[in-house]
Amino acid sequence: MDALEESGSPRPTEQKLWKDLKYSKIRKNIGDWFWKLIHNRLWPGAYWKNVPSYEERAYCEYCQNLETMDHILLSCTIEGREQIWEMVEKLYELPMKAN
Ligand SMILES: [Zn+2]
Repeated sequence: MDALEESGSPRPTEQKLWKDLKYSKIRKNIGDWFWKLIHNRLWPGAYWKNVPSYEERAYCEYCQNLETMDHILLSCTIEGREQIWEMVEKLYELPMKAN
């Protein structure tokens, strides 16, 4: 069970995510970031564990846990994470438009 399931929120289908990204006011670079997130193309901690001189990037500077996307987005207790999710919620409420 992941953090989304634990929260009780319904899991959107991949089709719904793509439709929402395509027909929203979300800028292309943010849509690209979501694509990388969904397709595991971002470089969280495990990648950096094997890069000489950059191993410290593998761990969260705040709580020293392995820096996974789940950790960054859902489980780190760093101040400000909740505000980011509130902003995402407002962004998601923007009216849809065709690109
Ligand atoms: Zn952390």
